[in-house]
Amino acid sequence: MHGKATQGQAGTSSRFGTKGPRVVIIGSGVSGILAGVKLLERGWRDFVVLEKAETLGGTWRDNVYPGVACDVPAHVYVYSFAPNPAWKTRYAKGPDIWRYYHDVAKRHGVLDHIEYGKNVVHAGFDGVRWTVQTADGSNYEADVVIGAPGRLRDPKMPDIPGMDSFAGPSFHTARWDTSVSIKGKRVCLIGAGSSGVQILSAVARDVAQITQFQRTPQWVMPVADEAVPWWKRLLFRLRPSVLRRTYRQMLDFSNERGALAFESKQARAARDKMCSDALLRIRDPELRAKLTPDYDVGCKRLVMSETWFEEVQRPNVSIVTEAIERIEPTGVRTKDGVLHECDVLIYATGFDAHAYIRPMRLTGEDGITLDQVWADLPLTYRSVSIPHMPNFFMLNGPSSPGGSASIIGIVETQWDYIAQLLDRIAADGVLIAPREESAKAWLETVRERARNSVWSTGGCQSWYLDHTGTPAYDAVSLPQLQASLAAPVMDDFEVRAISTQ
Ligand code: NAP
Repeated sequence: MHGKATQGQAGTSSRFGTKGPRVVIIGSGVSGILAGVKLLERGWRDFVVLEKAETLGGTWRDNVYPGVACDVPAHVYVYSFAPNPAWKTRYAKGPDIWRYYHDVAKRHGVLDHIEYGKNVVHAGFDGVRWTVQTADGSNYEADVVIGAPGRLRDPKMPDIPGMDSFAGPSFHTARWDTSVSIKGKRVCLIGAGSSGVQILSAVARDVAQITQFQRTPQWVMPVADEAVPWWKRLLFRLRPSVLRRTYRQMLDFSNERGALAFESKQARAARDKMCSDALLRIRDPELRAKLTPDYDVGCKRLVMSETWFEEVQRPNVSIVTEAIERIEPTGVRTKDGVLHECDVLIYATGFDAHAYIRPMRLTGEDGITLDQVWADLPLTYRSVSIPHMPNFFMLNGPSSPGGSASIIGIVETQWDYIAQLLDRIAADGVLIAPREESAKAWLETVRERARNSVWSTGGCQSWYLDHTGTPAYDAVSLPQLQASLAAPVMDDFEVRAISTQ
């Protein structure tokens, strides 16, 4: 079968009651909230969202460091069904983004479905249904499981000798200790990616000294934040349909710049020039040399900042490129023997980008485990489903696009695809899992595309690359993703009736 499955509503199959199939959603971040809203929209009210933390969220709950903001334009970083005419600036701050998602979850009734403090450790399929287990010993039965645990979720701490010996406060950017004031302090900051750049730019003027340990320089694209004038906000409120759509389209286009650079030489050249020209703002040639990458723009995820170019030149900012030898009680000693003293030590060292739904364990049909299916690579079909795991779907799963489109657009597109499979499940009371050979063929296509992308050919190391050195992300733009996920090719799936024998 090829094409859209029937548009089912709750109760179309006699298997399920009027509330629809029982669904467990794992995670209450941007993807989990989306899944909840969409289930309610289709009348599937029998679901629970399991959230391991005590409050709603993912990225925007965990990242509360100074200067945390989203470098995707705010009007794009929203669900398509919930535009926000009230954004006051082009780029939204982390706490405002968290409030937006909380507000959407509340308005759409998703909050009532969330159970907090529920860390999913295992999901097992018994041939008919899933049982989802949490660390506190609870079990949740489900006809369908939606994995939405996020991707840049687990902080990656470096392995530097002496880390435990540091006498002052030390923490990862995604575990910021809000009880610690860094005002007037000497700060050591390890890492120079997006988080490190945002923090340095936000705190340099308030701290006594900030020493950033930069192993690899990053390309920084100068993108100026700007206020959205009151009349524009008013206009957006008064003319919601036309004006919001126009604005969204405009921003979608600018957001796709990164993706266009995959395809168009001119777009790539313009972007590269913008980044290299911006470095000329660094007045000291020695500092500029330290901050100039020797790999292609876009190879690592581009850092976006306007303020960084000035902040990094403050006299109380030092960029240390010497390798770190060890951490000592009073600071960071580099291999040249210098001890860089500080009161607070911050690890802006990124995330484990390749865990996906693990460490949660999955046991699918015939006792086949996720570890078996993913022994070589995280094998999925179109990022949303896994062979041998019937009626288990993922948002922002392995091999989703990365760095080339807004994550919101990506997960909405993936949801629309999953929803067509859910329609089929509800209408016919069936189990759906991708065929292993279809998943393998699809994954090879994605990996081939990724191998030809700047992530692979650009001459850098980054979190895009997996343990084989191949980018684990699909190098496609949002329109390309939308086209490829328009309708499931049902021949690529095994579909069978649920037997209750
Ligand atoms: P990241 O980009 O992975 O950067 C980690 C930094 O830590 C790199 O500079 C890395 O150096 C350094 N590092 C890691 N281990 C080290 C060690 N042992 N010794 C010295 N340096 C070490 O992490 P991130 O800055 O948290 O950003 C991760 C991603 O989150 C971003 O790429 C972006 O997608 C997302 N993010 C987005 C925003 C936003 O505004 N939308 C903001 C923050 C983060 P190497 O480069 O040499 O590995």
